[in-house]
Amino acid sequence: MNIQRVWQDFLMIVTEEAGSRVVETWLKAVTFKEWDDINYIAYLVAPNTFVKDWINTKYLTLLETHLKRLLHVTQLKIVLVDHDAPQPLSPRNASPEVISLLPQAKVTPTAERPSASHAVARASRHITLTDQYTFSNFVIGPHNQLAYAAAQAVCKQPGAAYNPLFIYGASGLGKTHLLHAIGNETRANHKRASIVYQPADRFVSEFIQAIRFDKVQLFKDKYKNVDVLLVDDIQSIAGKDQTQEAFFHIFNTLYENNKQIIFTSDTYPREMTGITARLRSRLEWGLVADIGVPTIETRIAILARKADSSPHPIEQKVLEFIAAHAPSNVRQLEGAFIRVMAFASLTGQSVSLELAQKVLGLPPSPEPQRARVITFDMVTDLIEKEYGYSLAQLRSPSRHKGMSFARQVAMYLMKRNTAEPLTEIARHLRRSDHTTVMHAVQKIEHAVTQDLNLKNDIERLEERLKQG
Ligand code: ADP
Ligand code: MG
Repeated sequence: MNIQRVWQDFLMIVTEEAGSRVVETWLKAVTFKEWDDINYIAYLVAPNTFVKDWINTKYLTLLETHLKRLLHVTQLKIVLVDHDAPQPLSPRNASPEVISLLPQAKVTPTAERPSASHAVARASRHITLTDQYTFSNFVIGPHNQLAYAAAQAVCKQPGAAYNPLFIYGASGLGKTHLLHAIGNETRANHKRASIVYQPADRFVSEFIQAIRFDKVQLFKDKYKNVDVLLVDDIQSIAGKDQTQEAFFHIFNTLYENNKQIIFTSDTYPREMTGITARLRSRLEWGLVADIGVPTIETRIAILARKADSSPHPIEQKVLEFIAAHAPSNVRQLEGAFIRVMAFASLTGQSVSLELAQKVLGLPPSPEPQRARVITFDMVTDLIEKEYGYSLAQLRSPSRHKGMSFARQVAMYLMKRNTAEPLTEIARHLRRSDHTTVMHAVQKIEHAVTQDLNLKNDIERLEERLKQG
């Protein structure tokens, strides 16, 4: 868990919801020092007592609500200390983590020995799947259809269909949710299966401890007995060569034994830097499925699903308003929704459109400068003007050089400027599947780094799309 990134996400959400003044004045002064993921305690440091007290009285709920979500836990405790206070933070600092490598059976919990029960928590912590992330509360839309279908297939027959399954997409779009859903579902279907969920950065720190305490074999053995391995945020293994080496062998063993491996990442395998070529090629051996940005309909559906669990009914138009005005990143969308609900309940008001407008700090009518929605037709019209190829030509199977290039630029512009998933772009341009689009996007992304004229052309085209 990269807590600095969590903290940045937190600040971003609060800026959007509570305004930059709160963030600039109070929250930016705070540092997220440590996350104790065994006892679920977030240790924060304020620069002085004044700031500490102020935050404790005014922003504790805000901190709790958002950090819980960002850290994927249902409970947590916030410990805010001020900078000058003597600060022994969590007890973990004192004891090395090597214990997590011991096979679970050997660890006997003893009430008199707090370190032993601590060890149990530690030894089992890699299996903690979050119950609240299930398929039943995962909303499906065009942006995640492929990843969802692949996830379902994997649950039916782990190790058989898509191995490994690689799910990629930007932050806050549901990768971790889907990964836990796979874990929960597989556990329900295959009671005896050993399922391990591990964020890659934790895998790295575990490996480092193993080296330090000469327990590398134990480390490898532990993973070799797994039936389903869920590795979250694999991109964070980048640059950690030795860990990659160990992981490579674990991967091979699991793969050869038909054990299912699922990765999530914010980067497409081929674009990952700091990863050895052979490991990278393994990552894309199976199926690579992307999660894009949800469409407005899906965003409304996600909020409607959340509203179902609210004690008071919430009008559709309020949901639509929030979905249209909050960022399309699902995490921030949920943040906006929670903020509206919290405000209503704290002030004893019902959830109305006016209230939502007020809480989100937005004018009642859509802002005039709101970004224009870019459609596929706008892209293909522009391509025709620029390169002289019609939509019919772009859709044709012809691989004529100029036409192929124009088609690739079209795909690139569609991917970057619409919220449509790769599968939709492929369908629109009559390509066999989304990987064609993915390759086109990568090709242009690479080409613009090599060719300044092309870079300028593309920027100009994007500008024209935005201006209309
Ligand atoms: P990522 O791992 O891609 O950064 P998360 O899985 O942590 O994103 O998702 C962020 C939040 O958005 C979570 O609370 C998750 O439950 C929610 N979320 C994302 N996608 C969906 C979806 N399709 N349906 C319901 N909730 C979703
Ligand atoms: Mg995640």
